[in-house]
Amino acid sequence: MGRVNEPSFRESVDLMFNRAVALMDLPPGLEEKIRVCNSTYTVRFGVRLRGQIQTFTGYRSVHSEHMEPVKGGIRYALSVNQDEVEALAALMTYKCALVEAPFGGSKGGLRIDPRQYDEHELELITRRFAYELAKRDLIHPSQNVPAPDMGTGEREMAWIADQYARMNTTDINAKACVTGKPLNAGGISGRVEATGRGVQYALREFFRDPRDIEKAGLTGTLDGKRIIVQGLGNVGYHAAKFLSEEDGARIVGIIEHDGALYNADGLDVEAVRGWIVKHGGVTGFPDATHSIDGAACLEEKCDILIPAAMEGVIHMGNAKRIKAPLIIEAANGPVTAGADEILRKKGTVIIPDMYANAGGVTVSYFEWVKNLSHIRFGRMQRRQEEARHQLVVDELEKLSKAAAIPYTLSPEFKQKYLRGADELELVRSGLDDTMRISYQSMRDIWHDRADVEDLRTAAYLASITKVAASYRAKGL
Ligand code: NAD
Repeated sequence: MGRVNEPSFRESVDLMFNRAVALMDLPPGLEEKIRVCNSTYTVRFGVRLRGQIQTFTGYRSVHSEHMEPVKGGIRYALSVNQDEVEALAALMTYKCALVEAPFGGSKGGLRIDPRQYDEHELELITRRFAYELAKRDLIHPSQNVPAPDMGTGEREMAWIADQYARMNTTDINAKACVTGKPLNAGGISGRVEATGRGVQYALREFFRDPRDIEKAGLTGTLDGKRIIVQGLGNVGYHAAKFLSEEDGARIVGIIEHDGALYNADGLDVEAVRGWIVKHGGVTGFPDATHSIDGAACLEEKCDILIPAAMEGVIHMGNAKRIKAPLIIEAANGPVTAGADEILRKKGTVIIPDMYANAGGVTVSYFEWVKNLSHIRFGRMQRRQEEARHQLVVDELEKLSKAAAIPYTLSPEFKQKYLRGADELELVRSGLDDTMRISYQSMRDIWHDRADVEDLRTAAYLASITKVAASYRAKGL
């Protein structure tokens, strides 16, 4: 963020990595091999728009190829630069290892403000960027598989998939070259909501262990917890929606690019989202106090703070004033290394980005597998599962009749029990399982090792151990 004494995003990631490896016993050569970013490709290309050629700059960075394909989103923002893309690629390596998605780490970015272009122009730009990357195998089903990130979504992924398919007309696995596609273009149910859903599952797992709740100085369950969310985009919106609708949490603050909304009684997430879609921001939303200084709202009293917009928003300048006892990093890198230190000393518990927002890559993994297997999840089993459940229900009803027991299965039970799982349910189940197991692997290290003070270090330890094992297995 360019603040005095504040390390850059990539330096922040490296500092956090170094903190963790200091507690490990890795050969120095291997440590260095894991830390460094393997390659960053910069492309500058021209697109004829509005009667003249405009030049764009894009990046695709590959941090680690210990597993292939490598994976990571493509971001559209004016702030995109090499340092940021490399930091995000490194986080992808650690994230995939932590949640056992069999990928190396990568990330891409295009320096552009997508709001300045119409849909047709964005398509031309995206296709040209995809062409430049695909030409160099930086988009490829078995080598490099992008996904959405800030400023991109299903639409852009569909253009990328189509561009790759046009360039590789005989590749039967072409659809697996990118994830986050719309359902009708080879996507998977539940991918759009996945990262926010993952944040919800992460918090549920956190609240399952009284020791963790106590470490954050909280009590009880998610029910009634006051939450402030920064960024009501894909990740923030879904996290806020699910936590308020399904877990009884109260969204008291929403911070957007044009300021913050606050309402101690709780904000209606759907209504705020609708307002943003219509008006381009939160300004003017009724039923809440609006303040222009959005960042100040990060410092308001709440139980859980969810930064879900961008990196570097909690820094050495404001960390001391953050009151939330629990922060879950839905965005990548929202807390700088300097702020992390201050918060750790204060006793703030941070659920780190590499775990907290891993729901996206987890469901991307499922989508990639679906594309490679060319069949929707559940297609073979669903009706067979229903038929077997029907057998049990019929038998129970027969038995109760024969024994003249006045017992009938309730229609609600029958409806729930008889239904075979569809793709969305299977995806959510796989995601929930991943989020629970990965959290437990961090939690065990956090509680068992006296030299590990925080979840972030525990996450790095768990993931670096896996990356190191895979390099060792390759003979490195
Ligand atoms: P998005 O573009 O859908 O949403 C970002 C939101 O943040 C937008 O609503 C934007 O208006 C808002 N915003 C921009 N500047 C802001 C500011 N200064 N203050 C407050 N809000 C601001 O992006 P996203 O996909 O939701 O990504 C958000 C974060 O989550 C990023 O750090 C991204 O890397 C991370 N992430 C995303 C995914 C995913 O699947 N999309 C997966 C993992 C991590």
